[in-house]
Amino acid sequence: MIEENKQLLEFNTFRVWAKARYFAEINRPDEFMKLVESNIYQENKDNILFLWWGSNMLLTGDFDGLVIKNNIKTMRLTSFDDTSATLTVWWWYNRHELVEFCARKGRRGIENLALIPGSVWAAPIQNIGAYGVEVESVIKTVKWFDLTSGNIRALNHRECHFAYRDSVFKHELKDKFFITHVTFVFSKEPQPHLEYGALGELSSDASLMDIVEKICNIRASKLPSISEMWTAWSFFKNPIISEEQFMEIQQSFPDIKHRIVDGEEPRYKLAAGQLLELAWVKKGEKEWMVGTYENHCLVLVNHGEKSGAKIRDFAQSLQQRVKGMTGISLEVEVNII
Ligand SMILES: Cc1cc2nc3c(=O)[nH]c(=O)nc-3n(C[C@H](O)[C@H](O)[C@H](O)COP(=O)(O)OP(=O)(O)OC[C@H]3O[C@@H](n4cnc5c(N)ncnc54)[C@H](O)[C@@H]3O)c2cc1C
Repeated sequence: MIEENKQLLEFNTFRVWAKARYFAEINRPDEFMKLVESNIYQENKDNILFLWWGSNMLLTGDFDGLVIKNNIKTMRLTSFDDTSATLTVWWWYNRHELVEFCARKGRRGIENLALIPGSVWAAPIQNIGAYGVEVESVIKTVKWFDLTSGNIRALNHRECHFAYRDSVFKHELKDKFFITHVTFVFSKEPQPHLEYGALGELSSDASLMDIVEKICNIRASKLPSISEMWTAWSFFKNPIISEEQFMEIQQSFPDIKHRIVDGEEPRYKLAAGQLLELAWVKKGEKEWMVGTYENHCLVLVNHGEKSGAKIRDFAQSLQQRVKGMTGISLEVEVNII
């Protein structure tokens, strides 16, 4: 059933108010195919927004098109041998459930991504990552419905052009796709990534379940649940800059935190949180009903603002402060709609 002028408040974790001109929920793959044939889909096919939890988007106004909320949930184990497991997840699947499933089956690769909110199919779009692991390390193929031609197409890992919080889906394919299947290859071999923060407290032979539990505890101690705090978590990406830019900024700020990024040319990843602090942005700073989180200024929090545009404006003012102080342009991680 297609609803009109649907309020999207409960479908975005920033909890801003925005209406969809048309709104449809799909619970089975055939419902999506039926929707595609409808006049409303055909009339709005250049203006479609897919969402699941809306945990990585900021709606800055009403959406004058068709919003499709995907509730389909299936998973298929394509092969499961002694050394690896190939798993295809169709359509929808809560990613944390997948992390737990793999940990129970002894399959490795995504344990560090425990408790990141969101669906499996949103994961490749921004190549989600945490605690030294990015989801691309286990993705084999991504299948997608081509909104332009109506065909199902597939990309292998190389063709997805994965990078830090980035992929082909944010560029060449932007607004042209609906991800329907993600195929992962997990490993049975222990390759733990325990180098980040409190994970180092685990011994190198920690079990998968120990790692998942530790990450859940770390995350739970750092971030309140999204029902208590309205946010999409990290609002900005950590900037990656050239050696020349790095030398320049290091002259002004000798203690600048950085990691060297692998590649042909040396490049440097800075900490966006530190750049904000250098620009005198404070943790817990508030402008009317919008602010930074009390424990981390990279995280923007909505304290009751209805308008997503106000959150965007606040974010832009932070970007200007960082640019003015350090010369670095902070890129937004959240999808601004
Ligand atoms: C408390 C909190 C902590 C977080 N921690 C992390 C973290 O540690 N690491 C990290 O990387 N991210 C993190 N995030 C961000 C977020 O969880 C991820 O980006 C997640 O992948 C978003 O999933 P979603 O299903 O809610 O996507 P949505 O927000 O619903 O959608 C995100 C974007 O993808 C598009 N989209 C979604 N599904 C499809 C599809 N099937 N086909 C086409 N387009 C689609 C949407 O239109 C939108 O543009 C965090 C967010 C919160 C709120």
